[in-house]
Amino acid sequence: MAAASALTAGEAILRRQAQRESAARTYARALPVVPVRARGMTVEGADGRRYLDCLSGAGTLALGHNHPVVLEAIRAVLDSGAPLHVLDLATPVKDAFTTALFETLPAELAERGRIQFCGPAGTDAVEAALKLTRTATGRGGLLAFSGAYHGMTAGALAATGDTAVRAAAGDTDARVTRLPYPYDYRCPFGVGGDRGAELSARWTAHQLDDPKGGVLPPAAMLLEAVQGEGGVIPAPDAWLRRMREITAARGIPLIVDEVQTGVGRTGTFWAVERSGVVPDVMVLSKAIGGSLPLAVIVYREELDGWRPGAHAGTFRGNQLAMAAGTATLRFVREHALHERAETLGARMTSRLRGLAAHQPCVGDVRGRGLMIGVELVDTEAEPDDYGALPNAPQLAARVQQEALRRGLIVELGGRHGSVVRLLPPLTMTDEQAEAVLERLAGAIEAARAATRGGPA
Ligand code: PMP
Repeated sequence: MAAASALTAGEAILRRQAQRESAARTYARALPVVPVRARGMTVEGADGRRYLDCLSGAGTLALGHNHPVVLEAIRAVLDSGAPLHVLDLATPVKDAFTTALFETLPAELAERGRIQFCGPAGTDAVEAALKLTRTATGRGGLLAFSGAYHGMTAGALAATGDTAVRAAAGDTDARVTRLPYPYDYRCPFGVGGDRGAELSARWTAHQLDDPKGGVLPPAAMLLEAVQGEGGVIPAPDAWLRRMREITAARGIPLIVDEVQTGVGRTGTFWAVERSGVVPDVMVLSKAIGGSLPLAVIVYREELDGWRPGAHAGTFRGNQLAMAAGTATLRFVREHALHERAETLGARMTSRLRGLAAHQPCVGDVRGRGLMIGVELVDTEAEPDDYGALPNAPQLAARVQQEALRRGLIVELGGRHGSVVRLLPPLTMTDEQAEAVLERLAGAIEAARAATRGGPA
């Protein structure tokens, strides 16, 4: 090992991080990069290396890093002398944000919706949605899905599907009924496609109507239109519409968590638009703050049975985030970046499917817009009864490392961390998309060669 004095500045920072930060640190483990500069899709490390960033702050950076309109909006607030911290007081900056956000919402929510500014993380907005619907319905149960991810605070965690994470956190919330999310590639009913999704809907309706089905009266159904952390799994539009019908017919509020899918990422401004479904509550965070922390819920006004202070919190008035968010929302709309995400995403997905055709370890390529997943499988293992090969977590980890070596930052997610996830900014150029595909193909090939016949 190199002597401490021989370490570069970046290496020294990484070493101090490993010594001082908790064992719970996440992305930093697999991505030993010390970013010092970033612009658009490019991140530069302390060692001068440059990376194409397909992690985008876990899907936060719709416009990439330091987009000029975002920087300008932040500078304008700073130069104006406006207060930066105001709890939930009214300000012109917040007023402009709310107006810009409402302009993007489905008409029914835009016209008669309410907004609650939450603590600045997605998970706090999920908590708010759960509390809101519990108050409105007087019921305590919750319907949530396999593969779901909603955050790390108690209520959001209970709704999350990852049992290892929940168990480690001591979560014992028995109020959550787990329902099957339609996962075409690993269909829980072994049939996949429209039929698999229909069976999932049927199971849901059946459980809700069975007085001995074990389902506590639910305050809400909570779902993602495209599961992100679960492994980039898009729900079919027909299934989403069925969930809307099933919940509406039974007086169950439908909460759609658009924390990761929002602001153009999936090819429409909000992911629900594709199906035409209008949720009762939408949970919004990540990109709405234009790279700064911001989280809100918007909901039908009939649900607003809250008392003052029902979801209080100190940091609900981040003026810089609201200004950055306003600029981002406007820029995405004015430049129809959701359409760009749709076109570019379709092209990349089809190219990756081409790669899968001669790379058997790529079991599935899927996604919507610029939310793309590449599921890696173990080609040397036996397929299950329905023909699917097991996941390949070591191969996936190796692909992530090889991608980094080639100057590409990707995230892993999905079951057993076996899905390579691409969440590039919506401003990615055609040339950058080409470079991403080339580097990822090289990484998969190198990782496959290295892991053949043994663990990475
Ligand atoms: N919901 C979804 C769908 C998410 O993807 C995430 C974060 N990945 C969250 C909620 C939680 O957001 P945060 O990490 O900001 O608490």
